[in-house]
Amino acid sequence: MENHKNGIHHITALAGNAQRNVDFYVKSLGMRLVKKSVNQDDPGTYHLFYGNAEGSPGSGFTFFPWPMARQGKPGLGEAVKVALAVPEDSINYWTEHFGKEGIDFDGPYDRFGQQAVGINDPDRLQLELVFDKKAEQLPGWDQGKVPAEYGIRGFRGTTLRLNETEPTADVLTKVFGFEETDRTEDARHYTTDAPIGGSVIIEEGEEKPSANGRGIIHHVAFRAKDDNEQKDMRQKVIEMGLNPTDVIDRHWFHSVYFKSPGGVLFEIATDGPGYDVDEDPDKLGQKLILPPWLESRREMIGKRLPEINV
Ligand code: ZN
Repeated sequence: MENHKNGIHHITALAGNAQRNVDFYVKSLGMRLVKKSVNQDDPGTYHLFYGNAEGSPGSGFTFFPWPMARQGKPGLGEAVKVALAVPEDSINYWTEHFGKEGIDFDGPYDRFGQQAVGINDPDRLQLELVFDKKAEQLPGWDQGKVPAEYGIRGFRGTTLRLNETEPTADVLTKVFGFEETDRTEDARHYTTDAPIGGSVIIEEGEEKPSANGRGIIHHVAFRAKDDNEQKDMRQKVIEMGLNPTDVIDRHWFHSVYFKSPGGVLFEIATDGPGYDVDEDPDKLGQKLILPPWLESRREMIGKRLPEINV
């Protein structure tokens, strides 16, 4: 596993149809399905994890597809956008690619000094591709639908929409190792030196009608090097007057959740053990993987899940 850096570990969102989700992230965006598992709180539904070539922390974009989910509408106190990092010189490739795939895009436009294009996923989750030199430190996936040289390396970051910046910014800077590096009239940019996952933008907004459902970001997880660092971070969160959960074993990492002051659900996730703890690194995502405590129910769980083709 790569060296630890502070930054985003994974981001989890709600989706509708599972096959449509796979088609978009694997076939249209060229990401790698690194884990096909089930929602540990609702094992009759999938939990799908997309990542970079190695499925490293900073690249895990995970979805709970619920076929019956209603269309969500993002609101205040939520992560409202996910930015994916691609090589700096890949703008022509991606804009042509979106043309061929029939995906509408905005831009290119400037996003805190970098070029970006905006698209929506099939559940109207807002995405940005950010053309980022730093992301080139990581390899692209060479067996994907997008040539490795242009491929998504992981997250650039996410955008939070809040009614007040400071209290949540405090968590980012005092617990998760971010620094404010830029600001405009309507937004502030917090970054770390991680090649992927090192950007959080906070925009202040007004309360508008919102709805939970597909296309909504459920939580944003930040990296802890190991169990010890997670414990220290959890302690800092308590000292800030917030209420973290106990440590939960998610099998591929250990998790602590808490509601940030602005209302966004945050998670502290350890870098390890990693997605290759229960699968050959070359074959990630090919089989349905269950955490050990659900293994005895494999047959029943398998029957309830819809077939998906990757
Ligand atoms: Zn999570």
